Amino acid sequence: MAKLLVVGAGFAGAVYARELAISGHEVDVIEKRDHIAGNCFDYVHDCGVRVHRYGPHLFHTSNDRVVAWLSQFTGWLPYEHRVVALLDNDRKVPLPVNLDTINAVFGTQLNAPEDVMSYLASLALPRSPVISAEDHLCLEILSCDLADGCSSIISRRF
Ligand SMILES: Cc1cc2nc3c(=O)[nH]c(=O)nc-3n(C[C@H](O)[C@H](O)[C@H](O)COP(=O)(O)OP(=O)(O)OC[C@H]3O[C@@H](n4cnc5c(N)ncnc54)[C@H](O)[C@@H]3O)c2cc1C
Repeated sequence: MAKLLVVGAGFAGAVYARELAISGHEVDVIEKRDHIAGNCFDYVHDCGVRVHRYGPHLFHTSNDRVVAWLSQFTGWLPYEHRVVALLDNDRKVPLPVNLDTINAVFGTQLNAPEDVMSYLASLALPRSPVISAEDHLCLEILSCDLADGCSSIISRRF
């Protein structure tokens, strides 16, 4: 069996290290932070609230093997994730962006997917060079109004 070094104890490193060790390899793990779990790390604050240090993390997968593998280590609580974004005008809209979001932001009553695509294409603005996520949204997907909205939604979530 090999002697292996895994660099980083985030999800990827930790899972590889465990599976390799179970397979009989000798595995060392080094981690430059003072904790395991990488960006998924959380801890319970003195006041009793669980804090996700690097931003909120939710578990979601459609892969039964992933659920089965993780279920070796944890039980599960039923959880339903619903997100609304608060726009600057205090309106709440669904997130991720869907038809209701678009109709609410633009005051439209679009229904058919092709109408939505052509409406958004009519608003899209050329951006060159593309150097930010907002540029990409403006150019490829959405108009600047919605891209601005999405930027502020994203920054609020994080
Ligand atoms: C704000 C935010 C929200 C997110 N929300 C979700 C979510 O809701 N659901 C979800 O599934 N995913 C979410 N993600 C993504 C999730 O965090 C990553 O997919 C996951 O953390 C990736 O794991 P990883 O092991 O590949 O990398 P990381 O978590 O980045 O772990 C890598 C580890 O390697 C260490 N490392 C790197 N280089 C070295 C080195 N040279 N020496 C020693 N150690 C090193 C780092 O310190 C780190 O601990 C979110 C990410 C962020 C930032």
